[in-house]
Parts: sequence; C-alpha cells; structure tokens
Amino acid sequence: MSNCVFCKIIAKEIPGEVIFEDDSVLVFMDIKPVSRGHCLVIPKKHFADVVEAPEDLVTMVILATKRLALAVEKAVGAHGFTLSTNRGLAAGQTVFHLHFHIIPRFDNDGLKPWTHHEIEPKTISEIAESIRKNL
Ligand code: AMP
Repeated sequence: MSNCVFCKIIAKEIPGEVIFEDDSVLVFMDIKPVSRGHCLVIPKKHFADVVEAPEDLVTMVILATKRLALAVEKAVGAHGFTLSTNRGLAAGQTVFHLHFHIIPRFDNDGLKPWTHHEIEPKTISEIAESIRKNL
C-alpha cells in the first residue's frame, strides 16, 4: 500500500529500527514507545488488521511475537510483557497495517490500560449467548 507508513518501512523508503526480519515478518522499534523496548511485529504483506489477514499469516505473526517478546523482555530486564493488537478507530488503531505491540512491563510501572466494571451476572450471560450465536 503506497500510503502505508509500515509498508514504507518494509520497503526501506523511510527509516525503521529493525530488530528481525524474514520472508514474511518484520519486527522494529516503536517510534513513540509506551515503555522501554516497545516494538511492533508486522506481516510484510499489507492487511489492515488481524481480521483482514489470512489465518496462516496471523499464525506466523503471533509466533514471531512470542519469540521476540522473550528476547525483548530479557534485553531490557523487564519483569513481563503485554501483547496487544488494535482493530479499528474505536480500539485506538492509528496505523492500518496489522501489527502486534510488544510492551515490556516492569514491576509497579503504573501502566493500567483497562478499567474493570461491576456488571450483573445476567448481563454477562446475555452477552455470552450473543457471542456464541456469532461464532
Ligand atoms: P496502533 O495505535 O495500535 O495503530 O499503533 C501504531 C503504533 O505505531 C504506535 O505505537 C506508534 O507509535 C507506532 N508508529 C507510528 N509510526 C511509526 C514509525 N514510523 N516507526 C515506528 N513506529 C511507528
């Protein structure tokens, strides 16, 4: 995709701090890291998000993410990591080329991305049933 910033990194049209690449996957440092060592794992072929990409490619990206995450954790002395991918503006997606974030986590790093809510068990059951129907 000609106007995709990640495709431009793959094509070396713009700089990227690349950590790893093979025929299918590229891993590079996030330009505005959430934590020290934050990097991104992308397929070389352009797909907007995890739903748009074919299953074999998603599998490859996830396996690379797992492998790289352990290396990142070790490299920066992290105590764990958060893996995530966004789909859609509502989820906060800003670059529409499938990517998994590897976000190293440190004890007491204060990063709290999720707010939990109290909810009636009946409502949980209704939502679960709706999801089952959409499988
Ligand atoms: P998302 O909000 O899930 O779409 O994440 C996009 C990520 O891409 C953000 O964490 C950005 O900081 C990162 N990003 C955007 N442009 C670049 C770039 N040129 N090089 C590296 N990371 C980038």
